[in-house]
Amino acid sequence: MRVLLDNFSKSFGTTKVIENMTLEVGHGEMLALLGPSGCGKSTTLFAICGIHRPTGGRILFGDRDVTDLPSQARNIGVVFQSYALYPHMTVAENIGFPLKVKGMPGEDIRKEVDRISGLVHIGNLLGRRPAELSGGQQQRVALARALVRKPDVLLLDEPLANLDAKLRLEMRSEIRRIQRETGITAILVTHDQVEAMSMCDRIAIMKEGEIVQIATPAEMYNDPRTAFVAGFLGNPP
Ligand code: ADP
Ligand code: MG
Repeated sequence: MRVLLDNFSKSFGTTKVIENMTLEVGHGEMLALLGPSGCGKSTTLFAICGIHRPTGGRILFGDRDVTDLPSQARNIGVVFQSYALYPHMTVAENIGFPLKVKGMPGEDIRKEVDRISGLVHIGNLLGRRPAELSGGQQQRVALARALVRKPDVLLLDEPLANLDAKLRLEMRSEIRRIQRETGITAILVTHDQVEAMSMCDRIAIMKEGEIVQIATPAEMYNDPRTAFVAGFLGNPP
């Protein structure tokens, strides 16, 4: 589903974090919001989630104006840096929980949990509890739980930040594979330019609440519009 931020603004009290941002993410596209810490990436993503209400502008999913809708009514899947799995539940119960809340019958939940855990490659972990999983496995469970309701949009905020270097590399390609296989529209927030370049169709580089350039990874690399963009892409953190 297409996502459109139309003249989106967000302030906290008198602090203006985002002013008049317009951004379109195409159906089936994976877009990175890339920029240094504090530039407003999470604020933007939280507004798309429905956690923050915009102080100006509109947010559209397809033709539907979701600006005033709560998170639950937006049909989104979210994965944040901390996995926030329910520790007392098994993997299967964690993944099935969003369906249980919706009132789906147990037999149907089992089918959907099987389907999504096959896609995310955790079919062998369904009986375990989160404490018995590695960081990468926990993150796969969080992804499965985010995707089980077949959301229109997948929102990822620094999803790899808690993983060690090897797992981060593995999960980069895994998240991209899953995004491609499901064809879901996805927005990835990251401060890591290599992550953005290797995972996304397009990158929106942000600085102090503004998008300074939006382009494919190749275009961005070959033709950075400003010294800030060139510097940011050239200097790994
Ligand atoms: P990023 O995700 O790019 O690191 P954030 O979107 O979290 O940046 O934050 C952008 C700016 O907005 C920061 O200056 C931050 O202090 C401010 N900010 C974020 N959330 C709040 C809030 N709830 N109240 C006040 N200021 C906030
Ligand atoms: Mg952030």
